[in-house]
Amino acid sequence: MSGGEQRKWAVMTDQIEANSTITCPECGHVETETMPTNACQWFYDCKGCGVLLKPKQGDCCVYCSYGDVACPPIQEGKACC
Ligand SMILES: [Zn+2]
Repeated sequence: MSGGEQRKWAVMTDQIEANSTITCPECGHVETETMPTNACQWFYDCKGCGVLLKPKQGDCCVYCSYGDVACPPIQEGKACC
């Protein structure tokens, strides 16, 4: 038996999740969006009803307020822009 050692690629578990699913508080429309990793998105146009979403007070971006995944800087534990 020649022990064939299989090389496994390390799975990056600490990777930043770049997709966030936004739920519109007005119409309930759900849309998965790719977040910019280097900037915060303050405004978001709902593709369901067209309302302009803005971050809630205390939140840095629309993804933190309405998305199921916080924005990349928050995921990295940094203060947001
Ligand atoms: Zn909407």
